[in-house]
Amino acid sequence: MPRIAILLNDRCHPKECQWECQAYCPPVRMGQECIVEGPVGKPIISETLCIGCGICVHKCPFDAIKILNTPEADPAEIVHRYGYNGFRMYRLPIPPTRGVTGLLGPNGTGKSTALRLLAGTTVPNLGDYDASPDWAKVLAHFRGTALHAHFEQVARGTLRTVLKPQYVDAIGEETASAREYVAAVGGRTEPTLEAVGLAARADRPLSELSGGELQLAAIARTLASDADLYLVDEPSSYLDIVHRLEVARLIRRLGETKSVIVVEHDLALLDYLADQAHLIYGEPAAFGVISHPLPMRAAINTFLTGYLKDENVRFRAEGVRFVAHPPKPAARTTPLVSFPELTKEFPNFRLSVGAGELAKGQTVGVVGPNATGKTTFVRLLAGVEAPTVGTPPPGVTVSYKPQYLRANQPASLRERSAALAGDPTFDGRLFERELVPGLHLEEILDVALPDLSGGELQRAAVALALARVATLYLLDEPSAYLDADERMAMARLVRRQVERQAVSALVVDHDVYFLDLACDELMVFRSDAPDGSAGRGDGPFPMREGMNRLLADIGVTFRRDAETLRPRINREGSALDREQKAQREYYYEAA
Ligand code: ADP
Ligand code: ADP
Ligand code: MG
Ligand code: MG
Repeated sequence: MPRIAILLNDRCHPKECQWECQAYCPPVRMGQECIVEGPVGKPIISETLCIGCGICVHKCPFDAIKILNTPEADPAEIVHRYGYNGFRMYRLPIPPTRGVTGLLGPNGTGKSTALRLLAGTTVPNLGDYDASPDWAKVLAHFRGTALHAHFEQVARGTLRTVLKPQYVDAIGEETASAREYVAAVGGRTEPTLEAVGLAARADRPLSELSGGELQLAAIARTLASDADLYLVDEPSSYLDIVHRLEVARLIRRLGETKSVIVVEHDLALLDYLADQAHLIYGEPAAFGVISHPLPMRAAINTFLTGYLKDENVRFRAEGVRFVAHPPKPAARTTPLVSFPELTKEFPNFRLSVGAGELAKGQTVGVVGPNATGKTTFVRLLAGVEAPTVGTPPPGVTVSYKPQYLRANQPASLRERSAALAGDPTFDGRLFERELVPGLHLEEILDVALPDLSGGELQRAAVALALARVATLYLLDEPSAYLDADERMAMARLVRRQVERQAVSALVVDHDVYFLDLACDELMVFRSDAPDGSAGRGDGPFPMREGMNRLLADIGVTFRRDAETLRPRINREGSALDREQKAQREYYYEAA
């Protein structure tokens, strides 16, 4: 059976180890050159000599090696390979002439790579990573397939493509203003800035913009470009729920006349903005296979059940199930934490939050636009910030996962939990038995925290927060940087832990599926002054009432999918949308 050996380059530190991979490799000990030193001083693992024993995987102190014995795709379908022990991409999405196509799959399975390959900024090497870029070979490879015409135009330079990059932080280093940055593509600058809601702030330099504003600037520049194919990589990062929906509307409108391909992990958003989607399955950092396109509803339902019928691939052990939200029986709504009206005054911002109560076993979502004081409220409860008026509930122990994470110690997750072993406020058993497997942290236990990716660090931080013994858990934007799978797994885990331990949790988030899976109730934050200088929070309200309060402001309605009970955004102006708005029912319970 063919074997895939992967070296995770950024984790491999060949000067800081004893080359355990090579020293313990049985074929090497038999005199075979299974693991040799490569030209850049890192090991190269021969896939033909490797016997798949997995010893190097376990011996590597940095968890930098992956050996897979079951590659699931045909080598003839490789479109790109990053080096001998590098990632392999199988197949590509087929851009239609018009409409929005989604790409949905785990982190590290090649979504951004696929966009770069389609744009031609990376010339597909068809697995021959040593060869120089050669369009003639690419065209020969795709002859007779739907992608031939696409690459023919890309090779000739007659297909105009524009890419909204995944990482927008990088553009924050430019000195231009947001307006100059958007105008540089020579398109419809003003109407686009207006449409994304950035016009009033467009004269500020990019370096002074928040993450959400940078994202809007990058999206505006893409939308303003005159192109044939628009490639949009993770548009919702850093955006609040209001902006996500506005951006989704704009992308849909663009798809009416142009071809758009969007990578997105917020399932409610992807479901709404795309007409069809390709699912990606594989092994993060090792290989990714792009499925045939599925109509949108089928794509998400297939994703949730975890079984791709026409390719006979199961990519998740257990399906994801949504539930209706009937009120909990009275016995299960014992109050656990109550807080009085709280106020916080900053020089340029004033937050007021109405008195509220959190029940035992209850997870409460905190929703609302950016800069309305959600983080400030959580920090008041965490005791990080003192309220101007009101006292946070005394005698409540809290565990807090901040919105912005920084790994400042070189320790690994295993070392961190070991250091906490004797600490009575740290539940090491829970951490090991429930949280590590529940958040799929086994593979990264020994990686130094600063070496983790954004999503890995997020999962590690949430695990450490949930392992603390507390009455109230405060999780500020835990779904940031996670892929859709990780979001679902985390939502279910938080809900289950909070129920089991009969504690309470407040979870700030913008992903509707995450909130729907994790929460029983919602607190709703909104701006309380036309210039944004004040914010107001209220609740908790039952899920439906909370969503009604939030969505009425945005003018978006949701229905429930009959098969999976997942919430789906109604098309604007559709019969259901109009009917629900007339009844002021923005978020339907399942019947
Ligand atoms: P996704 O967008 O699905 O998260 P990417 O396309 O960014 O995935 O990356 C897929 C895999 O390819 C990752 O393991 C990544 O480390 C690897 N990779 C991406 N770009 C390069 C590159 N330029 N050189 C080598 N490996 C790369
Ligand atoms: P959200 O989490 O809803 O995005 P935040 O609570 O982070 O909102 O911020 C609300 C407002 O409070 C923002 O305008 C922010 O600038 C302001 N703010 C937050 N923390 C401070 C602080 N320590 N000093 C001054 N202003 C602050
Ligand atoms: Mg990506
Ligand atoms: Mg915040």
